[in-house]
Amino acid sequence: MVYDDLENMNSIIRNCTKCILHENRKNAVCGIGSLAPEVFLIGEAPGRSEDENGIPFSGRSGNLLRKSLADTSITEHAFYITNSVKCRPPNNEKPKRESMKICNEYLKSEIQLLRPKVIIALGNTSLTALSLITGTKYGNISEMIGKKFEWNGTLIFPQFHPAAVLRNMKRLDIFNNVFLEVTKILRN
Ligand code: SF4
Repeated sequence: MVYDDLENMNSIIRNCTKCILHENRKNAVCGIGSLAPEVFLIGEAPGRSEDENGIPFSGRSGNLLRKSLADTSITEHAFYITNSVKCRPPNNEKPKRESMKICNEYLKSEIQLLRPKVIIALGNTSLTALSLITGTKYGNISEMIGKKFEWNGTLIFPQFHPAAVLRNMKRLDIFNNVFLEVTKILRN
């Protein structure tokens, strides 16, 4: 199903029990941000703090992400951020494919409703979620960084998940360069 109203869809997400991930969540975490975004960011899944407060990327990863975006002049007004699945997997595991497939209708609707210029897929899980929508099979994120793909008039950029940057800060320059490349394209 594709939803035609974001607010209506978000109230459905908050009460959603379509997959097993609803069993342990405190809050389903809906996307937030600009309703006419230049940049649409997709993460993996809510973590502990997101599950607690219902806000995507509100922990350490989110802080790093927001700082890097601000440093490359992509302001809060220009982006929308969401996750491949809207409920926290137990023990911060990667979401299972079954949950990703079920939850994908929400992600697909967000993209169709907001029609962003650029989609940035943060990490392998979000690339997989995106492939369920675009029908394109992408490679591993580390081989995909620096590439871009056109889909229905939207540019797709693979990017490290900020948690992967926090695990290895040597990735920070590459991470920032992807955002610089996006900025260059948006400002041309
Ligand atoms: S992860 Fe998605 S499909 Fe599963 S319960 Fe949460 S909102 Fe529903």
